[in-house]
Amino acid sequence: MKENRNDPQAYFKLSYGLFVLTAKDGEKDNGCIINTVQQLTDTPKRITVSVNKSNYTHDMILKTGEFNVSVLTEDAYFAVFEHFGFQSGRDTDKFAANPALNRSENGIIYLSDCVNAVISGKVTDAIDYDTHTLFVADVTEAFVLSDAPSVTYSYYFEHIKPKPERQNNKKKGYVCKICGYVYEGETLPDDFVCPICKHGADDFEPLF
Ligand code: FE
Repeated sequence: MKENRNDPQAYFKLSYGLFVLTAKDGEKDNGCIINTVQQLTDTPKRITVSVNKSNYTHDMILKTGEFNVSVLTEDAYFAVFEHFGFQSGRDTDKFAANPALNRSENGIIYLSDCVNAVISGKVTDAIDYDTHTLFVADVTEAFVLSDAPSVTYSYYFEHIKPKPERQNNKKKGYVCKICGYVYEGETLPDDFVCPICKHGADDFEPLF
């Protein structure tokens, strides 16, 4: 087997966790999936998150300087990834159909279903890296919701992501060539960004 010295799959060996990042802009709430949350320092408690600029949640955080991270567990349904990964949220309210909304002390929504911990951040630095912004934030609140194990990308790939070959052949969709993420729908938006591996619409191909 020939080695590919520039293989995007290598990054998944890092086994990222998967998180729902939420924010609000005064008018509405929004959320997206991210895979990069790191504790930066312990004293003070400080974290970093990297957020793709094409997601509206990014703009909200840039504007308000505040966000929540909900840590997804192995119980997370594929529907959660679909819901928070398929659109930027610029023109829609991703929480409109949600009957039970929890808010932390900063007033921002967090998820409680399939989530084992929530961390609130207040941005101290926003560093521009082309397609992404790296937010450095002081932790203002952090609480545990359950003992369920955090989901890793590997677990998502093995147990949560639908297997294309087992799907109903009639189903229209697109699969990410990099990580296998499946987008169900007639057409893939040009500005779509894979919530798992951060690659764009160019790296997707039709399922069938
Ligand atoms: Fe992907």
